[in-house]
Amino acid sequence: MSNTQELIAEEKQYVLQTYKRPPFVLDHGEGVYLYDAEGKQYLDLTAGIAVNALGYGDKDVLATIEQQSHKLMHTSNLYYTAPMIRLAKSLCEKSFAKKVFFTNSGTEANEGAMKFARKWSRKNFNGEKCEFVSFSHSFHGRTFGSLALTAKEKYRAPFEPLLTPVRFAEFNDLDSVKAVIGDNTCAVMVEPIQGEGGINIATQDFLQGVRDLCDQHNAVLIFDEVQCGLSRTGKLWAHEWYGVTPDIMTLAKPLGGGLPIGAVLMTDQIASAMEPGDHGSTFAANATICAVAEVVFGKLSDPQFMQRVNTQGAYLREKLDALKAEFPILITDVRGRGLMWGIDVTVDSGQIVNKGYEHGLILVNAGEQTIRLVPPLIVDEKNIDEFADKFGTLLSEMSSDGAQV
Ligand code: PLP
Repeated sequence: MSNTQELIAEEKQYVLQTYKRPPFVLDHGEGVYLYDAEGKQYLDLTAGIAVNALGYGDKDVLATIEQQSHKLMHTSNLYYTAPMIRLAKSLCEKSFAKKVFFTNSGTEANEGAMKFARKWSRKNFNGEKCEFVSFSHSFHGRTFGSLALTAKEKYRAPFEPLLTPVRFAEFNDLDSVKAVIGDNTCAVMVEPIQGEGGINIATQDFLQGVRDLCDQHNAVLIFDEVQCGLSRTGKLWAHEWYGVTPDIMTLAKPLGGGLPIGAVLMTDQIASAMEPGDHGSTFAANATICAVAEVVFGKLSDPQFMQRVNTQGAYLREKLDALKAEFPILITDVRGRGLMWGIDVTVDSGQIVNKGYEHGLILVNAGEQTIRLVPPLIVDEKNIDEFADKFGTLLSEMSSDGAQV
């Protein structure tokens, strides 16, 4: 048995089987490439699901891990540490927010957001103002609160009953929001660009309309920018495309350069409802991770970096439009912003992801009919050309295989 086969057999034996992993073991990464244990190279269009914005092996990230870990790694949140304070300051200085709460993941950031909204509602109104509104195709995480606001039946059904009351409206349909929002609504949570749900872009009228409805009903507006935030779409915050500001925004994925961190950013008004002891986390705001996040945030928020994301995003769009024109039966739509793209396909997207591995492409889907492209934000034109060539070959093979459409 090869080392790869042995490891895969042990994974089946010892690791809880909640993922269907492809038959190779990833060993190392460099720039925008990953290498498996047999030495095969893959161009990464997934970035650890929109996490590795700076790719693999960013020198400043590595140096910061080394320096801060030697100095001080974990203290718990009982004590002041400089990296946490500096990171919170930078996030506030470059956003609408006045206060930050750190977490270890995206789902925990959303849990925090929900708790802060509830506390604010309870303090300023009453306990009955406790309902949440969420949307079709939304994804907010796997813990009970975030799961309750996640639309997909497949994720929810095995764990019901979930947190209530939650009311669902149709994404991009303002009338459906009007039908469920009311004076008992505590908060509305929405992704300005839905990731997992298929790269669905909120319309201007929808996002502005949701803001107005929240104001009308004194409901907290939460933007989940866990996936679309932090320059992924070519602006630092996805909501900047709309000029619509939330009361709370959640972040995670790319912030820690591959280390786990999430954040809840909020206005002073929301923050004023929280008191010491109301919420906490042992690991969050870890000094090493915050020091790394400071470096990552500095790079991602550099206007030149964002300009590059937009330039490469426009180039990727050209390539995707050309692929759609070449394969009109397999590809029905391409949409996205910056370096966050969805390709709607008429075949099972999982089949394309699996074929991608054979062609040295790391792809991920977003539902059964959409391929999601969320590459490291450092991709260049050459990488995009390589993707387009390989993806085109893959689609030709599928066409000549007579893929079911
Ligand atoms: N919110 C959004 C928009 C996400 O895309 C995700 C993860 O994919 C989450 C929340 C949950 O984040 P995590 O997996 O870090 O808990």
